[in-house]
Amino acid sequence: MTDILLGSHCKMAGSELFLGSAKEAQWYGANTFMVYTGAPQNTKRRDVSELRVEEGLKYMKEHGIVKHVIHAPYIINLGNTVKPEIYKLAKDFLAVEIERTIAMGSDTLVLHPGSAVGAAREDAISQIIEGLDTILTDDMKCTIALETMAGKGSEIGCTFEEIAAIISGVKCSDRLSVCFDTCHVFDSGYDIVNDLEGVLNEFDKVIGKERISVFHINDSKNTLGSRKDRHANIGDGSIGFETLCRVVYHPDFTGVPKILETPYIPDPDGSDEKKPPYKEEIARIRSYSL
Ligand code: FE
Ligand code: FE
Ligand code: ZN
Repeated sequence: MTDILLGSHCKMAGSELFLGSAKEAQWYGANTFMVYTGAPQNTKRRDVSELRVEEGLKYMKEHGIVKHVIHAPYIINLGNTVKPEIYKLAKDFLAVEIERTIAMGSDTLVLHPGSAVGAAREDAISQIIEGLDTILTDDMKCTIALETMAGKGSEIGCTFEEIAAIISGVKCSDRLSVCFDTCHVFDSGYDIVNDLEGVLNEFDKVIGKERISVFHINDSKNTLGSRKDRHANIGDGSIGFETLCRVVYHPDFTGVPKILETPYIPDPDGSDEKKPPYKEEIARIRSYSL
């Protein structure tokens, strides 16, 4: 049996940068991980040559970490039809972010499709397609993984149909894949707890399950269809440990990286600093047998 690919979001900070991310993943017992190329909430980026990428990739190889994915900053909004400068920034930034992703040795860039910011959703979707068309090329060595969204505010991509519309709308559709976020899918109203197979079949019918290139494995602080997007720790939310493990170990997705984005928890040793839960959560999921 192929080993599952399980890891978490890792920081890229301090002086070790990407090498530090790889070390963090190793410390968690992960064999995959995800990083932002800089702060998720802004577009300030250092040059890839400064990120200690070679050392990080070498470290990954030596420690059995087989794959990493990049997440684009979440302020990038191709769907903003209200402010042209935001749309332009999104396109310009994304084109460079794809270059950075490839230069960092990854073939997957996770992207929130966008938000209509109160304007018509159809217009936002058309603009996302138009924007992606200016960026995607057939020979690109990376795919953009559109993330399934919770539907908070006017987020696009909270139904499988919206994701499918974007994919079928762009010219280079084979350069698009999907990041399936369990918390988001549940919050947007798909009942993965009582009918995981039904939801996956629906996904397969509308988008095609082979499109999934990443899973985000998160529990949810809210109920089915709440459209809230508040991640809970594994087993502490309304999705639950069992369902999350069924996703992680699903036989159709063994080669697909599963990335935890669960919240930091209070320090068990009592300091004021919150601690990442990933080492324990990865160990717990790894000890689960179906
Ligand atoms: Fe995300
Ligand atoms: Fe996510
Ligand atoms: Zn989320």
